[in-house]
Amino acid sequence: MTIADLELITIPCPICGSDRDRPLCVARDYVYSVPGEFRFVRCEACGHVFLNPRPSDASLLACYPASYGPHLGASPSSSELAPRRPGWKRSLGTVTGLRRLLRYLGDERATVLPAPPQPGESRMLEIGCAHGGFLERAAALGWIVDGIEPSEAAAAQAERRGIPVFVGRLDQAELAPQSRDCIASWMVLEHVPDPLAFLSLAHRTLTPGGVLAVSVPNAASLERWMFGRYWQGYDPPRHLQVFSASELRRVLHRVGFSEVQVIYQAGIRDSYAGLAAWGMAHFPQARWPRRLMEIFRGETPRWLHWISLLPARLLAVSGLAGRITVVAVRPRNTVAGTAAENRFEASPVGFDAVGSGD
Ligand SMILES: [Zn+2]
Repeated sequence: MTIADLELITIPCPICGSDRDRPLCVARDYVYSVPGEFRFVRCEACGHVFLNPRPSDASLLACYPASYGPHLGASPSSSELAPRRPGWKRSLGTVTGLRRLLRYLGDERATVLPAPPQPGESRMLEIGCAHGGFLERAAALGWIVDGIEPSEAAAAQAERRGIPVFVGRLDQAELAPQSRDCIASWMVLEHVPDPLAFLSLAHRTLTPGGVLAVSVPNAASLERWMFGRYWQGYDPPRHLQVFSASELRRVLHRVGFSEVQVIYQAGIRDSYAGLAAWGMAHFPQARWPRRLMEIFRGETPRWLHWISLLPARLLAVSGLAGRITVVAVRPRNTVAGTAAENRFEASPVGFDAVGSGD
């Protein structure tokens, strides 16, 4: 299938089923140039924001070009860049206290990686594992890992790292109930046609006390307010859903999760894409917007990474960050799933935050 064959379907609200919605904005794909205009709407019943019409299930994969960065392991995060610290940072890091500050500033918290409750036995699944970088780190920590990935090319990369991958969608994977102790899914939920079914299936697949960790663009971000229809969180036609922290918290509780924690990520890379898209729309002949979009799609130059640390941290602290990571627990006992009963309670999902899913 090619992009020209993209078939769009009109849908009811994926969260509440209402067919009453009103147009919010019309966005275009400035990142991978899927042609056409795409409309985001707000559900009049529950307020959910979603792409409508959206690509049909059969058309979804056609929206992801072979060069789709997240599948290929492009766009390393600050945490992944950290081991290659420049000399001046190594020197400054020897000053008492400064090392801790630099570590704090450089920790984007794009993903969280809890320690396995029972190393060598606890099982972690990543839905949308792309090239497998996150699961490789989880395996090194003692998790028994496997992944689900619809992109064959990305799954092949993960398999080359020795990670078992089911190639397809979550609903096709026929996962055994209560078979995983942790399910991670980075920047995936916004791509999913039926997020309620996705979260319900994740809930069913987790053991009681198991942890779900997902990340999504933040609808209540400064970036969305600044860039409007050019906001990277819309990323049409690949992003089908838009969540705020409060809405995602409600949805997770509805599906049966408890102890929902929200972490605001300290990264502003999506701002480059927002600014680039705005520039491409207003100055079609100019070169800088295309250059900036290339930076977003590829590796962030070191200087840009360092000057973005402080603004990124300020946005995270104020809750206006462009992306959120949300952690939730399947209660041990659906009737009285108290915090004390939870196996992860002892080491509060305090996770050793590493790396980035992108
Ligand atoms: Zn709704």
